[in-house]
Amino acid sequence: MALFTIHYSLSLKPHTLHPTPYTLTKKEAKMNKLAKCCPEAVWEKRLRGNLAAIAEIRTDSLNDLEIMGADFRHLGVVVASVERNYQALLEQNQQMRDLLIGMVDECYCWQGNRCDRCARILQVLADSNCRSF
Ligand SMILES: [Zn+2]
Repeated sequence: MALFTIHYSLSLKPHTLHPTPYTLTKKEAKMNKLAKCCPEAVWEKRLRGNLAAIAEIRTDSLNDLEIMGADFRHLGVVVASVERNYQALLEQNQQMRDLLIGMVDECYCWQGNRCDRCARILQVLADSNCRSF
């Protein structure tokens, strides 16, 4: 490619060869037309096309990253919400267990001789305890 560059830069210099302004413009137009078909011009055109494509790809990538970032931020908000709800559920479950144990504690029956209601409550607590582990 360097060889082409030297060759064409030497042969396509109408200014140095023809100093008359009118001839220059005409020649320049001819040279410009010729330059469109020369390998150097084709190469530069291709290079510029590639650079433009790369710039476009970079812009697209940045946009994709921005969208991904927004998605991740949204996911973060969702996860935080699920975490809060789960925490609330755990607290609610603990309150229910405390309430049931309190009912058993306040009953007339005692450990080793529980009434039917307290036996059922203790069985429910034992079952839910097994499930949570
Ligand atoms: Zn009881």
